[in-house]
Amino acid sequence: MSKPGRGSPPISGRARGFAYDGGVRRRLKRMVVARVGRPLRCERCGEVLCLVLPIVRGGRVKLEGLEWALVRVDFDSMNHLVFSHVEAGRCPALRP
Ligand SMILES: [Zn+2]
Repeated sequence: MSKPGRGSPPISGRARGFAYDGGVRRRLKRMVVARVGRPLRCERCGEVLCLVLPIVRGGRVKLEGLEWALVRVDFDSMNHLVFSHVEAGRCPALRP
C-alpha cells in the first residue's frame, strides 16, 4: 500500500477499510503516554503533575499528555521551562 503524496486527495478511514473515529486516536495517545511517558514534576513541591511524552519536530518541542493537566509554565531562563501546580489545594508549597 502506497502512501498518499502531497498532491493527492486525503484517503478517508472508510476507504482504508476501517471506520475512523477521533476518539480512537485520543485513546491511543493516552495509552502510549501512560506506557512510555515520563513524569513531569512540580518545581515547588516535587509531586508528579502528569506523564508527558516530549516530541521534538521541526524546531518545536511538543509535550504529549500535558493537555490533560492543569499546570503553570514559566521560563526560568532563556531555554529552561519550569512547571508547577496552579491550584493551591494540590500543592503543599502554595498552602499558607
Ligand atoms: Zn506543587
